[in-house]
Amino acid sequence: MDCAYLFRGRVDRKLMFKFKCNSCGGVYFDPQPDGKRYFHACPDLTNPDFQPVPSLPKLDLRESLPRPNARDERQKPGLQFKDGEYVTVSVDPNDAQKQVVTKVQQITVSEGAGRTLVE
Ligand SMILES: [Zn+2]
Repeated sequence: MDCAYLFRGRVDRKLMFKFKCNSCGGVYFDPQPDGKRYFHACPDLTNPDFQPVPSLPKLDLRESLPRPNARDERQKPGLQFKDGEYVTVSVDPNDAQKQVVTKVQQITVSEGAGRTLVE
């Protein structure tokens, strides 16, 4: 579905990009119409072997399974932004008074199968 008409007049369309997640097939805009960044995370899969609880017929807590090779664009926990780059900071195992700053190559939780620019 082309949602471009929803955004007309709110954000310059040239600044919005439409992506398709190569892991789950989800389509999303980044940034969103309000200008905020969108961090896609693939939804879990519904367990095809789910069996309802016979003694609780009205209870249907769908069991979900993690999606293999899921994409999660959220930022890894514990990252810091120092001097223009993302780093992790830990205590030096040989000297508790020192910190070890390690440059991080990937800031997202998981790249999954990547994403494709749709338009
Ligand atoms: Zn996805």
